[in-house]
Amino acid sequence: MTGPRLIVDLDVLARNLRTVRERVAPARHMLVVKDDAYGHGLGPVVRRAHAEGVSWFGAFDVDSAETVRAVAGPDVRIFTWLAVGADEIARARGLDLDIGIGDADLLEEVAASPAAGAAQVHLKVDSGLHRNGVRPERWNGFVTRAAQLQRDGRITVEGVWSHIAEASDAEDDDAREIFETAVREAEIAGLHPRLRHLSASAASFARPEFRCDLVRVGAFAYGIRPAGGPSDADLGLAQVARLTAPIVAVDGDRVKIAVGSSDGLPSSLAGRMTVVADGRSHLVERIGLHSIDVRSWDGARRGAEVTVWGSPAPGVTDVAEKIGTIGEEIAVRLARRVPRDYV
Ligand SMILES: *Cc1c(COP(=O)(O)O)cnc(C)c1O
Repeated sequence: MTGPRLIVDLDVLARNLRTVRERVAPARHMLVVKDDAYGHGLGPVVRRAHAEGVSWFGAFDVDSAETVRAVAGPDVRIFTWLAVGADEIARARGLDLDIGIGDADLLEEVAASPAAGAAQVHLKVDSGLHRNGVRPERWNGFVTRAAQLQRDGRITVEGVWSHIAEASDAEDDDAREIFETAVREAEIAGLHPRLRHLSASAASFARPEFRCDLVRVGAFAYGIRPAGGPSDADLGLAQVARLTAPIVAVDGDRVKIAVGSSDGLPSSLAGRMTVVADGRSHLVERIGLHSIDVRSWDGARRGAEVTVWGSPAPGVTDVAEKIGTIGEEIAVRLARRVPRDYV
């Protein structure tokens, strides 16, 4: 062992998936797998989640949706919300994806794409985040046009959705009101979307009224808790991944460990994060490109394994909180070339 490794415990993933499913029922769980399943590795995560009964995947882009389809087969539903241009739309349709649509031009492009049958679409209203989505003042025209395209057999409107900040209850409540109004307007326009979806991890757990028919949960499934929020234990979740690296040198009062900023560890964590070796915590004093330094201890020896983050070391959100970011960022920054080991 010469460099860092990410140990991904798929049994922990399976337990988290069960916890999410029970928590949000009767709403269904769409497992969000963007950014290579939050850095855990798309293929193995999808394979295990599928075996555990997950039947909805949120894949963000068409490339990763293609991998999900190849791994999980024809029966799962795959939601993508970044299909751009005629080629990608054609691929999305060929893969039988559910396509998220947040603007009027994309609606026309999808409806006009040459694939046989009707495209399965989910219409997105901008409920205040301004991260694409149709503005409420344009929504009526948008759903009226969608209803026309549905009558023409070009599209089937399967869902209406939005995305919320999950930073304050008051803002989320305002967003939900905009969302509910948008659903009613879609129905008045003659649409019958069976799937309303609005919430990600935090609101899905804490606020039943946000669950609607389907929840898009990523972070919590991987055991990544929100910064400044409830603990893993309170949520009934555990972190799926653990980053390890070996000691490469014991040099006087310094121990060098083979992981660095080129592997995706933010160098601003120097002096702030602790790692665990020989059952003890060690403050990271320096973060270089390829190694980190901690102070030496009795028994420190070359080749011994150090846990950089994840049990028994602090989790990614604990680490993130030291530099004012979120756990997802620590997880997805880990370089793709760091091997993932599945246990
Ligand atoms: C990332 C994302 C999610 C999942 O968010 P988590 O907080 O990780 O559960 C849900 N919906 C959309 C649109 C996203 O981009």
